Amino acid sequence: MTHSIWYKTKVFFGKNALEENKGELLSYGKKAFIVTGGSSAKKSGAYDDIINVLSKLEIEFEIFNEVENNPSVENVGEGGRRAREFGADFIIGIGGGSPLDASKAIAVLAANDIPSLELYNGNFKNEPKPIIAIPTTAGTGSEVTQYSILTRKDKETKMGIGGENLFPKLAFVDPKYTNSLPYQITINTGIDALSHAVEGYLSKRSIPYSDALAEKAIKFFGECLNDLTEDNITETTREKLMYLSMLAGIVIAHTGTTIVHAMGYSLTYFHDIPHGKANGILLEEYLKFNYSDAKEKIDNIINLLGVSSIEDFGNKVKQLIDTKVEISADEIDKYAEKSFLSKNAKNNIVEVTKEDLIGIIRNSIK
Ligand SMILES: [Zn+2]
Repeated sequence: MTHSIWYKTKVFFGKNALEENKGELLSYGKKAFIVTGGSSAKKSGAYDDIINVLSKLEIEFEIFNEVENNPSVENVGEGGRRAREFGADFIIGIGGGSPLDASKAIAVLAANDIPSLELYNGNFKNEPKPIIAIPTTAGTGSEVTQYSILTRKDKETKMGIGGENLFPKLAFVDPKYTNSLPYQITINTGIDALSHAVEGYLSKRSIPYSDALAEKAIKFFGECLNDLTEDNITETTREKLMYLSMLAGIVIAHTGTTIVHAMGYSLTYFHDIPHGKANGILLEEYLKFNYSDAKEKIDNIINLLGVSSIEDFGNKVKQLIDTKVEISADEIDKYAEKSFLSKNAKNNIVEVTKEDLIGIIRNSIK
């Protein structure tokens, strides 16, 4: 058993985590560059909190609130340019996966005046600026990972960059920031977190450490399942979702994601389906596909979720999201090809062929 365990981010979890630990920010300099999307950071209360804290600490700040949904390479290029002009000492990402992922790419570009496509080569001269992450959704886990997933218009898909120096230095994970999330976003992001835990658990790169966290994350999701299907989302539900999302983030930091994410990227890119929902559409068929090679682990997933079978799980997912999508045979072929070539696909516990992926997509959208 040879492997490394990465634990790079100092996490503060719980109510008022930011206010109570604000002194931590002082080690990172006097100029903060805040990266966020349109309105969700404001609605969640996280935006007001950070402005308050930075003012109290007398840290100067500038705000870049133009992060797109599924941010493109061009979008982070613009953010990077603005951060350089401002002379940022560190970057604060606030929001869901899009702003958090963007903040990591911007942290690299804030320290390196390079074309943003160069992010994919990984050979930039200067260390990225320190990254501070404040999630306002429970799903991405980006606050504890080294990944930044960006939209590549030239390749018609989403592609990640990753590196040890992209782990946030600090993460303030406060479930109260998710209280204002609409029902469907809570569902979609929650399913994304589940997908991270399940895919990480069934990744070729899984290790006992990540398995332990994945099992706990899946169990937490199981405990939330009824609340989610019945639209009875309490503070305790939100706390569990936030915790499991963070655990699942630590899982994929070690294992990567697999074919669900690989195929889901096409559903998002070409059909504008939210990321978590795209994963949800594919999960049932993914479990069926892998069952013969990972029987013990998949039986365990079913148990931890508190459902009776893969089909039962699939039915619960269908209660949460609409899994019907119109996709032509030609499109399925194209998406399977793209997923097959992605590096995520190589992590799947069973070696996959393009035909396997065609089958999974076809059966998922029936
Ligand atoms: Zn994801």
